[in-house]
Amino acid sequence: MNRYSAFGLIRGAFDGQKHWQPAWRDPEPRASYDIIVIGGGGHGLATAYYLAKVHGLRNIAVLEKSWIGGGNVGRNTTLVRSNYRLKPLHDFFEFGLKLWEHLSDELNYNVMFSPRGSLILGHSDADMAILAQRGDAMACDGIDAELLSRDKVAKLEPLLDMSRSARFPIDGALMQWRGGTARHDAVAWGYARAADALGVDIIQKCEVTGFVRDGDAVVGVETTRGRIDAGRIGICVAGHSGHVAGMAGLRLPIESQTLQALVTEGVKPMINGVIQSNSLHCYISQSDKGGIVMGGDPDNWPSYARRGQPTIIEGAIANAIALVPALSRLRMLRTWSGVTDMSFDGSPIIGTTPLPNLFLNAGWCYGGFKATPASGWTYAHTLATGKPHPLNAPFTLDRFERGATIDEPGVGPLPNHR
Ligand code: FAD
Repeated sequence: MNRYSAFGLIRGAFDGQKHWQPAWRDPEPRASYDIIVIGGGGHGLATAYYLAKVHGLRNIAVLEKSWIGGGNVGRNTTLVRSNYRLKPLHDFFEFGLKLWEHLSDELNYNVMFSPRGSLILGHSDADMAILAQRGDAMACDGIDAELLSRDKVAKLEPLLDMSRSARFPIDGALMQWRGGTARHDAVAWGYARAADALGVDIIQKCEVTGFVRDGDAVVGVETTRGRIDAGRIGICVAGHSGHVAGMAGLRLPIESQTLQALVTEGVKPMINGVIQSNSLHCYISQSDKGGIVMGGDPDNWPSYARRGQPTIIEGAIANAIALVPALSRLRMLRTWSGVTDMSFDGSPIIGTTPLPNLFLNAGWCYGGFKATPASGWTYAHTLATGKPHPLNAPFTLDRFERGATIDEPGVGPLPNHR
């Protein structure tokens, strides 16, 4: 019986869903795998899925220290877009956006991708010039972008304060119509279920505590459930990248910072798309349940605490209310935070490390949710072949030594944030 059929749902209401099967297995770790992915967030699960699906590999494990969906993949504000400024990021995120457009079909799991439009507001002539440049750069790389007048912005989002005396007057905006949101934990569950169905072992409550070395080469991991050997090992632990890479003796150009978000009580539809202001670093959207989801700056010092400062939330709320005054009438339901891995140019690191068999996927700053499919796809290629994928080739770890940084303003740590 299909648990989603009407009969299955009614039966579930009476038997407490006892007849439901788990969406993925709970296997014991084997002594060795061809490939181990450390970290069962969105990126780790997507990587394992594409390793199995695209590269036909089966002897793969994802090791997760806590539970699937408990990290940043379940803590982000769900924004998905490809409206960056630089070509390597265009190519990467646009490839990803195309994967998002078919992800529910691919995984046979509704990730609720909702391309409701992603708006970046301009508050001055200088802002508008920067947005026009960004839109031109996107268009040159074949990405949809439209510069909108004040009047058009007012029609799209009637609750924005469009008065000239507003605290942050709005002069127009750059719209990416194909941008939007997706349900974040469904992305983790969808990839987990699909990877498990292809034979990937997803091992929760299994923390990697060290690396097993044979000379320089990394040949296995020490975990809270014992030693596990592997041909190749991919680090994919987001905010804990510095800590885990440190166990292998690598020092990364990354700082871990706490990033907070908040949601209000649920209300009728009042925000139509995603509203973002890069100048204020403020973003607002409405979830399908009706809550208004908002975010702002990271706490501006390194930390592994998933507990942020109230002043940061206060600032995010003040900015959001200045843009949409009607928000002042809502009650805040909850706040939360995650630990983000801030690279110093705002761009990710995906590729090899100086240690044979050890690979790294990190540095997503506060923009890695939207990268999940593209990151998984390209990292799987790198782990399967030992070589860069054309789309992750620019994002090497050694670019910081070579001075070949990919400096995307507005997405890196605070000194770089403008
Ligand atoms: P995670 O889900 O954090 O996965 C990493 C996993 O590694 C964790 O589950 C962790 O438990 C595990 N791990 C760590 N150490 C070990 C170990 N030693 N052994 C085994 N496992 C380990 N991005 C966007 O694109 N759009 C947004 O709107 C957005 N908003 C955000 C809002 C907030 C408040 C936050 C915190 C982040 C936001 N992001 C956003 C960023 C995005 O969430 C992250 O960049 C992305 O989720 C990181 O990849 P992940 O999903 O694999 O990370």
